[in-house]
Amino acid sequence: MKQVSLFVFVCLFLLKGLNAQTTIQRDPEIEKMVTAISSDSLKAYILKMVSFGTRHTMSTVSDPKQGIGAAREWVVAKFKEFAKQSNGRMTAFVDTTTLQPDGRRISKPVNLGNAMAILKGTNPADQRIFLISGHLDSRVTDVLNATSEAPGANDDASGVAAVLECARIMSQYEFSATIIFVAVSGEEQGLLGANFMAGKAKDQNWMIEAVLNNDIMGSNNSSETNIINNTKVRVFSEGLPAYELDKAAANIRNLGLENDGKSRQLARYVKEIGERYVDNLEVVMVYRNDRFLRGGDHTSFIQKGFAAVRITEMNENFHHQHQDLKNR
Ligand SMILES: [Zn+2]
Repeated sequence: MKQVSLFVFVCLFLLKGLNAQTTIQRDPEIEKMVTAISSDSLKAYILKMVSFGTRHTMSTVSDPKQGIGAAREWVVAKFKEFAKQSNGRMTAFVDTTTLQPDGRRISKPVNLGNAMAILKGTNPADQRIFLISGHLDSRVTDVLNATSEAPGANDDASGVAAVLECARIMSQYEFSATIIFVAVSGEEQGLLGANFMAGKAKDQNWMIEAVLNNDIMGSNNSSETNIINNTKVRVFSEGLPAYELDKAAANIRNLGLENDGKSRQLARYVKEIGERYVDNLEVVMVYRNDRFLRGGDHTSFIQKGFAAVRITEMNENFHHQHQDLKNR
């Protein structure tokens, strides 16, 4: 009798173990794309971006080797190189506008340019656009200093490297909807490049389904604890919508939608899919639009009513951001 009950117990234990197993269903094509991501490529992109000295928004656009002009031309050249494998579906260019001094963070007329690549969807009836962004510009302590060395390896060459690597791999595949890869400028001067692009998207009725903004992704040692964590990434999403909140507020309250805005839903999707396809990765949902008193380019898009999230490393090192170079 004792042996029988032990047998039953073992059976139940095994069954429970089997039930507890989770089968991860992965689309083989997406899996292939994720496997193709190369840390060597990412590192090479970042080193190249650092080599431009500064990528300040007001830095030179005529020097072929230094400044934001050379940097954006290099990003577009990479996009064009990748476009060769897209059967003519991907095109790349610098989308420029002229900004006048604003008495704040722009002190002279500036030729601002977003480096963009558009990978056309294969289904003409599918008007959706997915945007993958990072910011190319960098800065030192003085936000108006356009000449001092400002490598911005983490903020935000790391995000642009992610955009480039997505473009390199995804341009080899077909998607029903259109995907835009963009390295915007002017982030440090007040989200100027993102504002320019989001304004155009709103005016021209682009059907932007999602904006995935990558800003500061290099996996730092935290300035407070020195902890490095490269197994977690944060995704920030707004709670109450920035766009027409006054019109939407009653409905949000009546239906209890405080946690169900489109950016929050997008963040949930990022978590579910990110963790499904990348082993040992935890996507940590942060229930706010951005870090305390900090901003990023996704904000320009939520202000126009689009779903947009910010993806950022787990631990930031504030000694590595927005400051003059030091030997430490
Ligand atoms: Zn940044």
